[in-house]
Amino acid sequence: MAKKGEMLYAWTNDAGLLKKAECGGAVTELLKYALESKTVDAVLAVTRGVDLYDAVPVLVTNPKDLDNCAGSLHCGTILLSKLVMEYAPKMSGKKLGMVVKGCDMMGLLELAKRKLVNLDNIVMIGVNCGGSVSPVAARKMIKEKFGVDPNTVTKEEIDKGQFIIEYEGGHKGISMDELEEAGFGRRSNCRRCKLKIPRQADLACGNWGVIGDKAGKATFVEVCSDKGAALLTKAVDAKKLSTEPANPKGVEIRAKVENAMYKLGDKWRKHDFEALAPNLWETIAKETGRCMKCMACIEHCPVCVTSADKYKQPDMMIRHGFIPADPMFHLRRFAHISDSCINCGQCEECCPSEIPLALFSHAIRTEADKFFEPKLGKSVYTN
Ligand SMILES: Cc1cc2nc3c(=O)[nH]c(=O)nc-3n(C[C@H](O)[C@H](O)[C@H](O)COP(=O)(O)OP(=O)(O)OC[C@H]3O[C@@H](n4cnc5c(N)ncnc54)[C@H](O)[C@@H]3O)c2cc1C
Repeated sequence: MAKKGEMLYAWTNDAGLLKKAECGGAVTELLKYALESKTVDAVLAVTRGVDLYDAVPVLVTNPKDLDNCAGSLHCGTILLSKLVMEYAPKMSGKKLGMVVKGCDMMGLLELAKRKLVNLDNIVMIGVNCGGSVSPVAARKMIKEKFGVDPNTVTKEEIDKGQFIIEYEGGHKGISMDELEEAGFGRRSNCRRCKLKIPRQADLACGNWGVIGDKAGKATFVEVCSDKGAALLTKAVDAKKLSTEPANPKGVEIRAKVENAMYKLGDKWRKHDFEALAPNLWETIAKETGRCMKCMACIEHCPVCVTSADKYKQPDMMIRHGFIPADPMFHLRRFAHISDSCINCGQCEECCPSEIPLALFSHAIRTEADKFFEPKLGKSVYTN
């Protein structure tokens, strides 16, 4: 019987799935078992679209279809939490399984605070996340830094601090530090992120800390809730998964990596925020001067649940009928989400004018945290 707080190595007993999965297939197997055992009615997962730079969300009800979702898409900058709201009316009273990175999980917690999702009906299988790379930036990076045609890449992975590609004719890895110093690498919001292991999910799964003969062949699972413990136990009893206690040295290594990622997050925050601070308002006014009011930042923000239509209504605070948008349009938006921006980066990712919206929003949130946390206490997650 698995218990909350336990750390294990887990792997699927399905040889076919093991080949397709990222590193052990425990995530896919757990979701499959959750469907088969009717623990959940559907699973919201991610599958490869037209190429490996394209991550597509899928709602799966047939366990066999989950095999198509196995593997990690590091250039898939998708956020699943707001999508849940689309399914929420159809899912009323039903149970949903989800794969969640730290940002997906924080998005769900924010929606739960607003009583828009019921977490009792969601099983969250968390995946550690060191960060993702924008699809457009990934293509440019592979062409310019790796000297490889991005269309010939068959596999990408992030391992031991390197971005590694396999392509027709070879494979190549370049350190993330080198890529990021050159302006490539992970999205800037991911660099600043400090939530790498999603412990508010039911299980937190990853590859950090898997060492010895299980390296690359097992998933490191930290049991974070009784719900997660029950699912894992039942999947093992049903002989879908095998487990063994995590190697203590592996546990130590995982903690060290997490700590190093934390420090890296702090380094990037200092770098980004200090550059912004002296001219914050001028920079915001200048950059948002390119806004064409497409409303994508509002549509995709997981914590802004006001409809974009509301922002189009005549309003005393925003002058309407202007392109670019009145700076108050963005300032009001930042104020609206300033206590709960989760730094998922979707606003920036979806902005056709490439305005660094996530940077502004995250800087404001972090500043507000510094002011309010000593008085009100830390937020439930460290973001
Ligand atoms: C962007 C990203 C970065 C990661 N970085 C780290 C890291 O630094 N350290 C670490 O220990 N682990 C990291 N992981 C987790 C790791 O890659 C594996 O997902 C995890 O170890 C589970 O392995 P598995 O074989 O059990 O997963 P699988 O059985 O292969 O299942 C993987 C699941 O991940 C989902 N998925 C794939 N891509 C995405 C995506 N972009 N967004 C949301 N869901 C997705 C799929 O739907 C699938 O259900 C990362 C994962 C992702 C997606």
